[in-house]
Amino acid sequence: MIARLETTDVLVIGAGLAGERCAIEAAAAGHEAMILSLVPPRRSHSCAAQGGMQASLGNCVKAEGDGPIVHFLDTVRGSDWGADQEVASIFAEEAPVAVRELAHFGVPWSRVRGGRNHYFIKGEEVEIEEALENDGLIGQRDFGGTAKWRACYAAAGTGHAALYAVDSEVVRLGVTVRDRTEAVALIHDGSRCLGAVVRCLRTGRHFAVMAKATVIATGGYGRIYGQYTSNATINEGTGASIALDTGIVPLGNMEAVQFHPTTLSPSGILVTEGCRGDGGFLLDKNLHRFMVEAEPKKQELASRDVVSRHMVQCIRDGNGIDSPYGPHLWLDIRHLGEEHLRTKLLEVWDICRDFAGLNPAEKLVPVRPTQHYSMGGVRVNKDGEAYGLAGLFAVGEAACWDMHGFNRLGGNSLAETLVSGRLVGRRVAEHASGFALRTDTGHAFDAIAAAEQRATDWMSRSGGGPSIYEIRDALGEIMMGKVGIFRNGTELQDAVTGIQVLLNDCDNAVLRCKDPGVNPELAFALRLKGMLRLAMTVALGAEARTESRGAHFRSDFPLRNDQDWLNRTLVRWAEHDSAPSFAYEPTGLIDLPPGHRGYGSDERIEMTASIDSHNESVLREQTGHGRLESADPMGSRLRRGAWKSVAQ
Ligand SMILES: Cc1cc2nc3c(=O)[nH]c(=O)nc-3n(C[C@H](O)[C@H](O)[C@H](O)COP(=O)(O)OP(=O)(O)OC[C@H]3O[C@@H](n4cnc5c(N)ncnc54)[C@H](O)[C@@H]3O)c2cc1C
Repeated sequence: MIARLETTDVLVIGAGLAGERCAIEAAAAGHEAMILSLVPPRRSHSCAAQGGMQASLGNCVKAEGDGPIVHFLDTVRGSDWGADQEVASIFAEEAPVAVRELAHFGVPWSRVRGGRNHYFIKGEEVEIEEALENDGLIGQRDFGGTAKWRACYAAAGTGHAALYAVDSEVVRLGVTVRDRTEAVALIHDGSRCLGAVVRCLRTGRHFAVMAKATVIATGGYGRIYGQYTSNATINEGTGASIALDTGIVPLGNMEAVQFHPTTLSPSGILVTEGCRGDGGFLLDKNLHRFMVEAEPKKQELASRDVVSRHMVQCIRDGNGIDSPYGPHLWLDIRHLGEEHLRTKLLEVWDICRDFAGLNPAEKLVPVRPTQHYSMGGVRVNKDGEAYGLAGLFAVGEAACWDMHGFNRLGGNSLAETLVSGRLVGRRVAEHASGFALRTDTGHAFDAIAAAEQRATDWMSRSGGGPSIYEIRDALGEIMMGKVGIFRNGTELQDAVTGIQVLLNDCDNAVLRCKDPGVNPELAFALRLKGMLRLAMTVALGAEARTESRGAHFRSDFPLRNDQDWLNRTLVRWAEHDSAPSFAYEPTGLIDLPPGHRGYGSDERIEMTASIDSHNESVLREQTGHGRLESADPMGSRLRRGAWKSVAQ
């Protein structure tokens, strides 16, 4: 087969909100941009986002006094102090711009209605008079872990509205989009990324796209949890996987995996946090609101990690509702009324009807926690540039930028995709302007040959080896059973052993269909080893982190340990190496000192080093781990001490 080679200025791998927003920035700066996607862009996972996008507009009564500094505080607390505080600060400042820009792109935001409004707050119906001069401003609802109502929303179809609007901009700017096209390897010379090897999912043909700048925007890796995830089937972590294969670019905090409290049981389809934000509550089998005792202050609106743990504990205590598919709890949104459900939570109404056959205005909704979001990903600096390889960037859920640390707040991901898409896109454009592509085709042809060999190897296997789908399903069971909401050393060790067995099985697995063209089995087989390797980095990272922080909860080490673990896990694993290597870097500059989150446990092991001495080491240590220099110096966008004026 004769390999093909193409060039572009900017190659964006992924057509979700993050990738498309990044491509818009590059195209608007005059660069030729190409976007790759497994599916037509509007079917990217971003389309499924429901409840809202956080930005401190302060447009309604319950949002009064909000601003970027309060948003920064909530985000760092939500992350359980795992976030890079400068990145959280940049994010909080730019989120309002991103929301207003979406309005300009055509997103039909739900709006404030001036005058008397009825809301449900902590189970009580209250009447609030919204100022008439705010009538028609972008509306905001309550979400978990936030001090103010901040989530801007378009009913419960926020991602759908946003992705269609952003994709229309992509079309308007004439960006080349190649859907049903998969990046299967990065092309690099050891210090610079030169593009990607790509496989056409229609023909099975490999070719290379060489670029001045390459952006990984491939979303999360939730599918390593098999059926126990709210994620789409395309969230297999391929972007993180091809970065890991280089052995140069580290992945950050892979063990930081979020579980969402309310997915429909048994299908696992998400029911947005907006339901609880709008006043819905959780009930056990006795129709008791257990969250009121568990978290008196925030109740159902503590952060997701905290609520998920209370739910699992409630079920373990025998208070779940038995079903043929396992125990669940109830989400009660009946009191919100049909009009509210069919307008502000329209998509939830549809999901309950279509996937559970129930009317949520009349019946309780069966829910349980499920894997939802990947805080870990390709480790990048504040410009979004990957550690170790110049010209490689990552944005959105695929990246570990790292504003979420060990727990992302609801609504902060959509906001991240747009904020980081704009910001990283600008850096990508600058990078592309300052670099002439010397098409050293040797690296590209070598990478194509290696990718073709992988496909040939799969197709030439015969005999009675295991099926790739059995391996996929077994992986999901291991991950949810042993690397789930509650973790402990023994189970994590079991998980590592089990994943190693599956890695060996993968080498002996045999395809049922040997067609080289449109062949979903082959396409999945080519991703499977990468998924297993990602799962191994999650399990090993979780085993090594002997503390509890955010979504990473160790029953055998239940305290957050700021003395020993105020750091970020970095993992590298070259394609042909037998095992990954782990390292740790300081989380970033500290401005808001570690403290209580305002929900969850207040017990922790305090850091004894001074914040000044911690901060003094950050630049040196991160640089030592491969961090590339950012355009502005580290710390230049941290508004030091600003939080003191608003902290409660
Ligand atoms: C059900 C659900 C509801 C949610 N609701 C909210 C919410 O209300 N608010 C909020 O803030 N967050 C929400 N989230 C999270 C949020 O939607 C996602 O984190 C975010 O949309 C991810 O966007 P992204 O652009 O990074 O990736 P995605 O939207 O996942 O896009 C990834 C893209 O990469 C492509 N791709 C993947 N691998 C390859 C490859 N190898 N080659 C080429 N292309 C590839 C895919 O085709 C796709 O186009 C929700 C998530 C779920 C699951």
